[in-house]
Amino acid sequence: MDDRRQMYETYIKSDKWKLIRKQVLDFWGNRCILCYSDYNVHVHHRSYDRLGNEIMTDIIPLCAECHERHHWVIDELREDPYTQMIRTLEMLAKPRPPEDEIPF
Ligand SMILES: [Zn+2]
Ligand SMILES: [Zn+2]
Repeated sequence: MDDRRQMYETYIKSDKWKLIRKQVLDFWGNRCILCYSDYNVHVHHRSYDRLGNEIMTDIIPLCAECHERHHWVIDELREDPYTQMIRTLEMLAKPRPPEDEIPF
């Protein structure tokens, strides 16, 4: 088990986490952000960079089903749907190159 994993395991059992988990669920409205189900809601870390000092968007609530699918997607693409969405928006916002820069 590496250090990060160890830290996570310890953290997840702490009272601080219980509090943050509750805040996260309150913040997101206690339901899955992908399908809005309030059944069997898990919390998923999008980033572990601020472990112990997370901001609300580091952690998202997902129902068991979406959580499983979400991890499958991450394993497949190495990034989560939220990041992809941002990337797509950035791409759309980018101005097209002027005609004479198109290489053909
Ligand atoms: Zn869901
Ligand atoms: Zn997860």
